[in-house]
Amino acid sequence: MLSFTYESLPARIKFGRGTIASLADAIEEVAGTRALLLSTPQQTEQAREATLPAEGQIVGHFDGATMHTPLGVTEQALDVLKQTGADCVISFGGGSTIGLGKALALRTGVPQIAIPTTYAGSEVTPILGETVDGRKTTQRSPKILPNVVIYDVEFTLSLPPALSGISGLNAIAHAVEGLYARDTNPLVQLMAEAAVRTLATSLPRIMAAPQDIEARSQALFGAWLCGTVLGSVGMALHHKLCHTLGGAFDLPHAETHSIVLPHALAFNAPMIPEAMAALRRALGTEDPAGALFNLGRTVGAPASLKALGMPEAGIQTAAEQAVKNPYWNPRPVEFEAIRTMVARAYAGERPV
Ligand code: NAD
Repeated sequence: MLSFTYESLPARIKFGRGTIASLADAIEEVAGTRALLLSTPQQTEQAREATLPAEGQIVGHFDGATMHTPLGVTEQALDVLKQTGADCVISFGGGSTIGLGKALALRTGVPQIAIPTTYAGSEVTPILGETVDGRKTTQRSPKILPNVVIYDVEFTLSLPPALSGISGLNAIAHAVEGLYARDTNPLVQLMAEAAVRTLATSLPRIMAAPQDIEARSQALFGAWLCGTVLGSVGMALHHKLCHTLGGAFDLPHAETHSIVLPHALAFNAPMIPEAMAALRRALGTEDPAGALFNLGRTVGAPASLKALGMPEAGIQTAAEQAVKNPYWNPRPVEFEAIRTMVARAYAGERPV
């Protein structure tokens, strides 16, 4: 019998092609007059050109955003925010840039307009991960959630195929864990199933033709759904394990997700019959974990944690850490089973 609690997150979403034309309106919608533009150094030019439609409302550009939102970078950006007298931020880029915008909003209350250019999904979550002295901590707050999101498929065309593939798999991981989250609900499950289907079909098309605007649009739509799932319900073993591995061995975020996901799913599979049925429908196969492993190979994702530079001794460390701080997971998290699973991910073997 159905029984659930559902809470929706407030955000205005503008989705399509050429939606950047609404940027000036979006600044007004958040009652801003002086916007600070944020980007990574790699996207300095792209961010500047993309935001030309609102050039007159942009008073500064901080292009030092980097992975995992280090406190030192946030402090530099806070100085620029103060110096320019900006009253809102425009975060143009992937999860790293959007993370910086969230860190500024959390500290100052400035409204945020996010223009995502990857499939990570951070733009629709009230979650922020920050790094202080190499330690990453994560928090949730309504103050963290961006106010307006402009999804313009044009800006994803430049995302290199290799990055698109792993970013898409990172997104799929949010949907997969959303299907069996402790606090999942029927709406989240609908979104998650549609998200997996949409991304699993569009990512191979993007690999074959990176400028295929229809495939890019589908992937971005899937990413929005995945991000919404991540923002709505709690995650389990897969996300905890990736967090542990990333923190302990400084492994890249999206790549780690793409490698661990099939193994974490195979581990949980016996305990999540409804989620597995949804994944069988979404992926059109009797073996969802195997299909996600195959999708990783199709999009050229690294197959093993070893390839990411994790030391072999890290298998033991990761398993120890994974069982150290107990958290909810549909299958009990036991040391030996986790160690075996991490060893398979380390070696790049198929999930069992
Ligand atoms: P990213 O933002 O670090 O981007 C990776 C690289 O690709 C950067 O150099 C970036 O400038 C470049 N890039 C991005 N879009 C591009 C485009 N369209 N064309 C060309 N280059 C482009 O990568 P990411 O995977 O989007 O984000 C990872 C970070 O986001 C991690 O720190 C992760 O923890 C965080 N994250 C947070 C949440 C959340 O809800 N809080 C969710 C997902 C990810």
